[in-house]
Amino acid sequence: MMNSENRNAAAIRALLRENIRNIVPYSTARDDCKARMEIYLDANESPFDNGVNRYPSPHQPELKKRLSVLKGIREENIFLGNGSDEPIDLVFRLFCPPGESSMVQITPTYGMYRVAAEINDVEVIDSPLGPDFSLDASSLLGKIREDTKVIFLCSPNNPSGNLLDRDEILKILDNFGGITVVDEAYIDFSGAESLAGLVEKYPGLIVLQTLSKAWGMAGLRIGMAVADRNIVDIMSRIKYPYNISVPDQTRAAELLSDPFRTMDRVALLVKERERMSRILGTLPCVDKVWHSDANFLLVKFFRKDDVFSDLAEHGIIVRDRSSAHNCEGCLRITVGTPEENDRLLSVLGWENPETSYTGVPDTADRTASCSRKTGETSVIVRVNLDRFRRPEIATGLHFFDHMLEQIGFHAGITLDVVCFGDLETDDHHTIEDVAIALGECFYSALGDKAGIGRYGFSLPMDEAEAAVLLDLGGRTDFRWDVTFAGDRTGDVSTQMFPHFFKSLAEHLKCNLHIRASGENDHHIIEGVFKAFARALRQAVERSTSGTSVPSSKGSL
Ligand code: PMP
Repeated sequence: MMNSENRNAAAIRALLRENIRNIVPYSTARDDCKARMEIYLDANESPFDNGVNRYPSPHQPELKKRLSVLKGIREENIFLGNGSDEPIDLVFRLFCPPGESSMVQITPTYGMYRVAAEINDVEVIDSPLGPDFSLDASSLLGKIREDTKVIFLCSPNNPSGNLLDRDEILKILDNFGGITVVDEAYIDFSGAESLAGLVEKYPGLIVLQTLSKAWGMAGLRIGMAVADRNIVDIMSRIKYPYNISVPDQTRAAELLSDPFRTMDRVALLVKERERMSRILGTLPCVDKVWHSDANFLLVKFFRKDDVFSDLAEHGIIVRDRSSAHNCEGCLRITVGTPEENDRLLSVLGWENPETSYTGVPDTADRTASCSRKTGETSVIVRVNLDRFRRPEIATGLHFFDHMLEQIGFHAGITLDVVCFGDLETDDHHTIEDVAIALGECFYSALGDKAGIGRYGFSLPMDEAEAAVLLDLGGRTDFRWDVTFAGDRTGDVSTQMFPHFFKSLAEHLKCNLHIRASGENDHHIIEGVFKAFARALRQAVERSTSGTSVPSSKGSL
């Protein structure tokens, strides 16, 4: 009997071009010697250190580790290329025998799929999207021929900007036995869930993402393919060995360590996209603004050539997409900064050029951000005790992420946590250091504690029977009366939970008494996190009347 792992390997092997199946890759000096040595005389490099005299890592482990945490994807499922263009080209080289195969792509779409196909002598079959740019799976599946090896989808699609219907994509995955590429270059602007989580279920699925758009690294040229590990392995074998340079890897790792900045910028661009779309729809020169889930808008103008030259005369360049299928009269406008967008709108005749963006947090909000870097972990946390927003949590431990989300949701606060930790050792440092950073961050956001409730308690919760008593009075006392049946819950060892709350209490400087019982470890600990969140909510809440510190001493 074949297990699913072997089944996937066999299915992918059958799809590969025959000459690729048994290819012996070039073996780099770094592949041959992975140990850390003192003196490197194996790669004919220059020995004089100028920062770039050594070859880069061919497998980019540091970058993959960060992306794995941020995206919740296993490192073995990630391939990194020189922009998305590299995995696009590799798909043809791996799966399409030149001169005797075809690919089906939606149209209109990103032009590189066609170019890469033609370079590889693969015939392109267009499958037009509907008049509203929607995907009809049956119509696309009807275009498939015997020699069709690959389908290219792009969601959100360029240049139309819309997300493709997930169920229609799933129909294609369920009915096509070859390779389906879903290019998600713009997914971060859409709020939609990536399809990357499905690569184990569908071994022929390859999801492309890039650091060029939301992450602001177009100049570095780093694209990502998420796929079954058998595809990732073969892509890694036939790529150019050193496809991402040392400075690019270093700079990307640096920029990935500040994901909050990216999140804020994406939120700003999405707000701006909606503002522009609203205003453009009111301008007399505009015929239609298409709905967008990306960082650009496709806009149909009555006299697009005049608009294009008018903008150019004012120093603003946009992309003419009018020759693409169903895009007559359309220009594609990338969302810029609020000031840039105002300039574009005023050239187009908008008479109220004042930025309405109000993304600056209310200064009365109790906010804090903390970062903590050791040899073992790098943690960043930010909180806003006065505003709820969906939590953004990425620690590389899925169960722990789920528990931290409970704190954000049930305390009704903004809570973002990212930790790049030494999970190859175990979960200890990650959990402990997140607890410390979280405690410090809450403590710092509380400020002088004026007006707060100070105490929180919570009642037993359903069958989990969790009770959490909390006093933010400034002294620390930690009690834990919880027993678990097993050693692990999800990917977290249960003994780390008391350690987490103890470290948190020490750094938040609070009394924290936790009691819980039940039959199912998952329910017990989820009850504890929720009850803690509820207790925290009561304790940090500021009363609208009182502004004094809730202590007869006058300070906490
Ligand atoms: N995919 C799509 C849909 C794009 O629009 C673009 C760039 N315009 C890319 C991929 C290219 O991304 P990269 O910079 O990673 O090569």
